[in-house]
Amino acid sequence: MKSFVHRGQITKVVFGSGTRAGLGGEVEALGRGRALVLCTPGQTAQAREVRGILGALTAGVFDQAAAHTPVAVTGKAVDAARAADADCLVSVGGGSTIGLGKAVALRTGLPHLALPTTYAGSEMTPILGETQGGVKTTRRLPEVLLDTVVYDVDLTLTLPPHVAAVSGLNAMAHAVESLYAQDGDPLAFLTAGEALDALAVALPAILRDPADTEARATALYGAWLAGTCLGTVGMALHHKVCHVLGGSFDLPHAQTHAVVLPHVIAYNAPAAEAAMARIGRALPGPDPAGAFFDFAGGIGAPRALRDLGMPESGIAEAADLVVRDGYWNPRPVHRDAVRDLLRRAWAGEPPSRAASDRSYDPTGARHA
Ligand code: NAD
Repeated sequence: MKSFVHRGQITKVVFGSGTRAGLGGEVEALGRGRALVLCTPGQTAQAREVRGILGALTAGVFDQAAAHTPVAVTGKAVDAARAADADCLVSVGGGSTIGLGKAVALRTGLPHLALPTTYAGSEMTPILGETQGGVKTTRRLPEVLLDTVVYDVDLTLTLPPHVAAVSGLNAMAHAVESLYAQDGDPLAFLTAGEALDALAVALPAILRDPADTEARATALYGAWLAGTCLGTVGMALHHKVCHVLGGSFDLPHAQTHAVVLPHVIAYNAPAAEAAMARIGRALPGPDPAGAFFDFAGGIGAPRALRDLGMPESGIAEAADLVVRDGYWNPRPVHRDAVRDLLRRAWAGEPPSRAASDRSYDPTGARHA
């Protein structure tokens, strides 16, 4: 008999093409009329367009969102919101911009709307990662859940195909870890499986034809589903490894997810049979880890952490950090197994077949 707890979402979601035209109505539906638009320095053109759509509902634009949500930038954005007498926030961008919006919303209590332009999924989660003094802390805070998310596929058309590929793999990582989450529930499992199906079809199609709006829409749909899973159930070894690598070596977020995912799937395979069967439906192949490795390579994703700038000397340090804080994973996490996994990911080797064996003993493991 099934037994589970499911947490529902409170965020209003509008999805389609051209949906940004209705943004003003969404601001007004929240009873607001002075939006501070947030973006990165690279997305000021999109922010200007949104400002035009909002017209008199715009209080100003803050264009300094940065990776890893530095608290110093958040402080400036809070000052900008107060100076402009803003009564709501509109984030136009990926995880970096939406992270800033969450951080400002937490400090000001302002309602937060977003127009996501990548597949990172932050808009659907109560997770806030912030950086201060080089240290990144991540918290789950219901207060940072967004009020409204307007997905407009048109805004994703400028995402270069190689960025779409790694961003999509980042979304697939949320889905994979939701399939075997400790607090997983039937809805999350169904949602994660649908996300994998959508992204498995859409990402290669975007690489073949970057102007394929149907594929772009399918990828964004998959990203919404994957983000929803990330927001409702807990993650495991994969997200822990990527968090450590991003925090310690400043590796790029989506690319790191793309490299690490097949290796964690290999390690977790014997402890997550239902998840592996579902991954196999989305990505058929002899084994899910190998299928993911081939899929990621096929859409041009990086395969080696060394190519992302990680020093080989960092492998042992990263393994120590991954196992330092106790956290849940379907298969118990052993330092030597993590070191082995990281060494393969660093070198760009295929995921270990030996690690997928129930009898795998990482303390004496030879590399398969
Ligand atoms: P990002 O927001 O940093 O965007 C990457 C770059 O692409 C930026 O320069 C951005 O301006 C540009 N860009 C974004 N969309 C574009 C588009 N449509 N066209 C052209 N350029 C575009 O990257 P990301 O991968 O979306 O987010 C990564 C960050 O989000 C990390 O800091 C990560 O920790 C965080 N994140 C948080 C959560 C959460 O739930 N809190 C979830 C996922 C990611």
